[in-house]
Amino acid sequence: MYIQAITLFPEVFAAITEFGVTARALQRGLWQFNAVNPRTFADNPLGYIDDRPFGGGPGMIMMAPPLQAAIDDAKARQPQSRLIYMSPQGTPLQHVQVSQLAQESGLIVLCGRYEGIDERVLQSNDITEIAVGDFVVSGGELPAMMLMDAVLRLLPGVLGDSQSAAQDSFADGLLDCPHYTRPIEFQNAVVPEILRGGNHALIARWRLKQSLMRTLTRRADLLADRRLTPEESGLLREIREEMQKEQDNPMINRKSES
Ligand code: SAH
Repeated sequence: MYIQAITLFPEVFAAITEFGVTARALQRGLWQFNAVNPRTFADNPLGYIDDRPFGGGPGMIMMAPPLQAAIDDAKARQPQSRLIYMSPQGTPLQHVQVSQLAQESGLIVLCGRYEGIDERVLQSNDITEIAVGDFVVSGGELPAMMLMDAVLRLLPGVLGDSQSAAQDSFADGLLDCPHYTRPIEFQNAVVPEILRGGNHALIARWRLKQSLMRTLTRRADLLADRRLTPEESGLLREIREEMQKEQDNPMINRKSES
C-alpha cells in the first residue's frame, strides 16, 4: 500500500516510519510512504501557504492553490489512491472503515493546520472526511498517523501471527478480554487460575465470556446489532444471572470473592 501525507510537517511522520511494527513493515516493503509539503507549491518566496479568513475572525486558513497542487502531485504518483481529509467534522473512524481502507492500493491523507483549509478544496475533490473523535487537535498529522497505524496493522504480514489483529477489540465486534503475564501474583491480585491450567477449551470459553462481559458493561451498543452464536447467548445469560445475583446480594458476593 502506498500512503502519502500532505503535510506542513513531514518530519513528524517519523513516529510511524521509524518506530515499531509500522517501521519494520516499511523496511520490509509492505507499504511505502511519501510526504508532500504544500509549502513546495507556495506562490511566494517565503513559502506562505495560509492567509486570513474572509469575513474576519481568528486564525489562518490554508489556501486552496498550494493544497490543490500538493493533491495533484500526490495523485500523479499513485492515481488510484483514495483521498482523505482528516477533519473533526468527518465521520468518526471505526474498525469497519479501517478495514475497508486496508483494501485500497493507495491513500492520500490531507492534514490541516490552523483553522483548517479553504472549503473549495473539499468541493472540488472527491474527498472522504474522517475524524478521530469529537474533539479538536491542532493539526491533522496525529489523526493521520492514527488512521495509518490502524490500517497498516491490518495488512497481511505487518503483525506477526502471535500479535494477530483478529483478536483485538472491535475486530470481531467485541472488546478484547483481559490479559495477564508474569508474575502470577501482583499486589495481592492473582492471575485467574483457568489461564494457568492449560485447558485450551476452558480458556477459550473464559476469554469469550470476559469479552462479552466487558462489551456488555462498557459498550452495550456493540452488542445491540450483533448476531450472537448459541455459545455467546448462553454465556451472556450466565453473565446477566451473575450480575443480577450480585445486585440482589452485593455483600455476600463480595465476601465470597475475598
Ligand atoms: N476549525 C476547525 C478545526 C481546525 S483544527 C473546526 O472547528 O472544524 C486543525 C486541523 O486539525 C484540521 O484541519 C484537521 O486536519 C485536524 N483535526 C483537528 N481535530 C481533528 C479530529 N478530531 N479528527 C481529525 N482531524 C482533526
